[in-house]
Amino acid sequence: MTAKHVTVPCRLCTNTLLPSTARKTGNLCLSCFHRERGRLEDEARESRPGCAGCDGSTESSAFWFDWQLAKQGKYRFRKYPKYLRPVRRVKGGDRYVCTECGAPWYLPGAPQPQHMMLIPPACVAQFEAWCEREITCTTSVLEAARAIGATPPSYDDHADDVRIPCKVTTRKGEQIELAVLRFSRLPPIPWMDERPQHLPHFRLADEIASVEPSRFALSRQVRSAFIADRRGAIDRDWLSVDVVSRTGRRYRLNGSPLFFDRDGVPGEALRPAFRSGGLAVPAKPHGPETVFAADWFGGAKLLNFSRDPVTGFLSWLRWRLGGNLSGNKP
Ligand SMILES: [Zn+2]
Ligand SMILES: [Zn+2]
Repeated sequence: MTAKHVTVPCRLCTNTLLPSTARKTGNLCLSCFHRERGRLEDEARESRPGCAGCDGSTESSAFWFDWQLAKQGKYRFRKYPKYLRPVRRVKGGDRYVCTECGAPWYLPGAPQPQHMMLIPPACVAQFEAWCEREITCTTSVLEAARAIGATPPSYDDHADDVRIPCKVTTRKGEQIELAVLRFSRLPPIPWMDERPQHLPHFRLADEIASVEPSRFALSRQVRSAFIADRRGAIDRDWLSVDVVSRTGRRYRLNGSPLFFDRDGVPGEALRPAFRSGGLAVPAKPHGPETVFAADWFGGAKLLNFSRDPVTGFLSWLRWRLGGNLSGNKP
């Protein structure tokens, strides 16, 4: 037997591994090594007091966990309910505070799932402004947003949440090309624990003077293709769509991005490709976007182009004629 055929058994399962791997992992196969490391990290976290904001669990300070599962004690975040105390009712949910570090947390009320969210220090002032007032858009902003068309969220458990990629001019006259107008019940704070350079920058939608199409935004056609991909692949949570530019450059877009800005190709130049293949680009093929948060309201669902266009248009018309735009109530 030559040396290259020598293998070592994993000390936890029946897999075998190369001696070079065994030396690095302490005789564990890679899957056992990662599982074991996760278990040790969970144990270390459980032994430290405090919330995810003060026990070293998050680097970018975006963090959430399932509150129900944590309270039932069946979950890796089960120590957190002990350190989080409700303070008061705020817009659409409850504000909590960490008894160790004083960090603010937000627990959405029904119909949102009970995902307890950490309010990162940089977002506290904005979160408080969001809690205190109703955040609505003017009729002309809503009409422009509907013409562009909203994309529903990537995951179905946030049904009351639509996003419109656009160019925004603020009341102060700033022009933002990578802007997202978001109607949601959730507060303006980052949701995913993404790398800090990818975290969206949040503002409030009542700062908007006007909305127009952005040349970096993916067309309605490309964004619909992501939705079609999701319907076709229920058990795959990674969406991808093949696109081609006007000059014939091909890309495979992953995730469900709203914008594209690479190789001098703006999002508006891309259309769905009939045959697959092309350069795979990361889920965020553009710089960080600015998300303008607006309150969820009855008409927001009608901005969403994924609904049947005829029914969608008729309900939009009925809603417009009903004069609900001025009230804009959730
Ligand atoms: Zn193993
Ligand atoms: Zn804390």
